[in-house]
Amino acid sequence: MSIKNTDLVHAGRQDLRRLGVHALPVDLSTTYPLPDLDQGTASLDALVEGHKAADNPVYARLFNPTVDRWEQSLARAEGAEAGVAFSSGMAALTACLLALREHGTHVVAVRPIYGTSDHLLASGLLGNEVTWVSADEVGAAIRSDTALVMIETPANPTLQLVDIEAVVRQARSVPVLVDSTFATPVLQRPLQQGAALVMHSATKFLGGHGDVMAGVVACSDEMAQRLRQVRIATGALLHPWAAYLLHRSMPTLKLRVEQAQAGAVALAHRLSKDPRVSAVHYPGLAKGKAKDTLNRQMRGPGSVLAFEIDGGHAVAAAVMASVQLITPAVSLGSVDSLIQHPAALTHRVMEEGDRQDCGISAGLLRLSVGLEEFDDLWHDLDQALTQACLSGRQAA
Ligand SMILES: *Cc1c(COP(=O)(O)O)cnc(C)c1O
Repeated sequence: MSIKNTDLVHAGRQDLRRLGVHALPVDLSTTYPLPDLDQGTASLDALVEGHKAADNPVYARLFNPTVDRWEQSLARAEGAEAGVAFSSGMAALTACLLALREHGTHVVAVRPIYGTSDHLLASGLLGNEVTWVSADEVGAAIRSDTALVMIETPANPTLQLVDIEAVVRQARSVPVLVDSTFATPVLQRPLQQGAALVMHSATKFLGGHGDVMAGVVACSDEMAQRLRQVRIATGALLHPWAAYLLHRSMPTLKLRVEQAQAGAVALAHRLSKDPRVSAVHYPGLAKGKAKDTLNRQMRGPGSVLAFEIDGGHAVAAAVMASVQLITPAVSLGSVDSLIQHPAALTHRVMEEGDRQDCGISAGLLRLSVGLEEFDDLWHDLDQALTQACLSGRQAA
């Protein structure tokens, strides 16, 4: 079942008419008056155990109604029982790792994933041990103390697709976490393929305007209860203002994703015919097995693409320096187009050999296509490529 605009517009707002308001209310209270001590104690107990709500919120680290509204909206979008919001994507991943520690500290993961996610796993900062495998080696890597299998599809920054169902099959009873940031629930709903946890850096498409940092996990009520326990204990909360902005962005999510995708499809085809570009990585250009995976688990190829140019770091840097309309900046999923160099920025934290093994070369640029007209974007990229190739030739 695909996502409905009606749900994106209305989920988490069903009580507004009864409240007599039209816009989403923002509750900034850090503490709440307790009508009697027994109610306070009972509510505190329920929330600390990770229950969704209680008669009284007690304290903002335990519950916030504005955040709860957005969580409901996101859960509806993913077709999940629950959503649990965090202060960033990294806080969301951290909470998942901590919540599953009772089952073991071993994680099986498929590269590439977002650079800081890679670092969090590889560094062992949270006491995890990681085995990196290719998508068809997941089954063989599972151990009795494996707590989690983690994949990211489409993957940052190479846009590699991972077959979610095939990974879930291999993982057997071990929960599979899918970082679905690049797809959004508009293009992919991994819980339908059997994933246990879907994670988003909501800083990207869900916020969509480059002005809010957030993370969220969509999952079962049982898993959400454990994640809330971790959130209460560690405090990686989403601020109610941020939740308000995220909720305000939900009604336009499908429109934004589909419009940006149309631009990305056109740009990917144009770039793939350009002699200055040696390779274009985009699910919409996939052939064979990747194309089957795209058709089976996604409703479209999305609006992030990557391309490679000859001349490595220097020429890539010159492209970034020459764009005028497109912003040379990390992040993605905004209404405006952004271009960045993964090896020098988002994936710099990885070991160079690991970067190269998963295709993050010195000439790779990642482009997040926004809502601008195709002609304007192509004009800008075209002149930037010309500039960069000229400067590359002069240097050589
Ligand atoms: C940005 C990003 C993250 C990290 O999210 P933050 O909100 O920056 O903490 C994780 N995964 C992917 C795929 C991302 O693009």
